[in-house]
Amino acid sequence: MKDPYSKPSMVRVGNPLYAKHGSSAQSYPLIRQSIEGAAIKDLVKKYGSPLFVFSERLMREKYRQAYDAVRSVYPNVRFGWSYKTNYLAAVCRVFHQEGALAEVVSQFEYEKARHHGVPGGQIIFNGPHKPMDALRRAVREGSMINADHFGELEDLETVGKELKKPVKVGVRLNLNAGIYPIWSRFGFNLENGQAAAAVRRVVSSKTLKLAGVHCHLGTFILDSAAYGRAAAKLSEFVRAAESMTGKPIEYLDLGGGIPSRSHLKGVYQPPEIAVPGVETYAAVLGANLKWLLSRKSPPRLLLENGRHLVDEAGYLITTVSAEKLLPDGRRAYVLDAGINILYTSTWYKFKIELDRETGGVMEPSILLGPLCMNIDVVDEAVLLPRLSRGQSMVLSPVGAYNVTQWMQFIQYRPAVVMVRESGEPLVIRRAETLADVTACENDLPDDEHRK
Ligand SMILES: *Cc1c(COP(=O)(O)O)cnc(C)c1O
Repeated sequence: MKDPYSKPSMVRVGNPLYAKHGSSAQSYPLIRQSIEGAAIKDLVKKYGSPLFVFSERLMREKYRQAYDAVRSVYPNVRFGWSYKTNYLAAVCRVFHQEGALAEVVSQFEYEKARHHGVPGGQIIFNGPHKPMDALRRAVREGSMINADHFGELEDLETVGKELKKPVKVGVRLNLNAGIYPIWSRFGFNLENGQAAAAVRRVVSSKTLKLAGVHCHLGTFILDSAAYGRAAAKLSEFVRAAESMTGKPIEYLDLGGGIPSRSHLKGVYQPPEIAVPGVETYAAVLGANLKWLLSRKSPPRLLLENGRHLVDEAGYLITTVSAEKLLPDGRRAYVLDAGINILYTSTWYKFKIELDRETGGVMEPSILLGPLCMNIDVVDEAVLLPRLSRGQSMVLSPVGAYNVTQWMQFIQYRPAVVMVRESGEPLVIRRAETLADVTACENDLPDDEHRK
């Protein structure tokens, strides 16, 4: 049988791929036909496309590797699982089973953690906006509340008086650890004395008791030394705070931010080279917290990593819906997944693995999403062999922030599957239906429908 005729075309090799500061590109197609033993073809047939797929094995492996690395340098450590990174119940369950506390940044996340059965005492409550009702519950249930601003200290004092009980509080600090921009909008600034003023405010209160010190530098922090600088500055602050309160602190919380092996746009080196291993971060922390270890009972070290633990465990299967040639010569493919469910595509370039071997030359291609929006681009420049309609590909890593920041915009949100350690796929969030979307709505009364 002859191949069907297709009109010849010229391809202009003047493409962002080859620009001086362009991203490094895959120069040969990567192939993937299964995830943790589950065939892509079967997954799509059974659960549809697009489809998020999580590997339980990888989540546990990542957690244990990171936890062991930190525990070996600072034994009294607990991890708080960052809910906003991925708060699907089954994902949280895996990390809680591994020993993680819950780290939440809103009333909604607090309620979700409680709904998962996490006791209040095992919740770290962060975030710039904590309504009074949320604070009341958190205080009653004994969670670790890290105050973000002076108004919150006042609110906590009010709650303590209402409930006639002392309120333990942590203070969140922002500081210059050489990471720019500095996330100075969260917490009390160290360098300008605001943080010390916050401790004085706590000390002057009969109700508030200083329990801990918190700092979250930012996310995807490639410079591991920044954690050393932050730990050193926090240490000095802890010494000063303890001399004001006359009591040792209970915990020192260094937040999250350790990167996953993901390709941040603008970082030229591939993630295998650009992203340090978690052991590097642990060593830096250990070196700067040694003085605390010499205490009879060292305070608890808390870390709140999200991205590092879950990102690489998440994959997205997506399918080619259409193929077209753009006027500038680029080959364009319309996928069934776009920025509606891949929020992180703004910053990260995903690894692309095709479901089959395809011959032919590699062409500069653009991957478009299914939205009726010009900005719906999954990858603006990638070398791919000619793809056909109906073929699938796997994008990764997508485990962090996508299934929380996704939107029900134009399209339904797809199903999420976890491939269990046994190799069995389990639906951990079914695909949305029209009924889900309309459930919260209220139309005008029936008799007005035809007017
Ligand atoms: C988002 C967030 C985290 C988790 O950050 P990652 O970069 O995903 O590790 C931890 N702590 C706080 C306070 C956060 O806001």
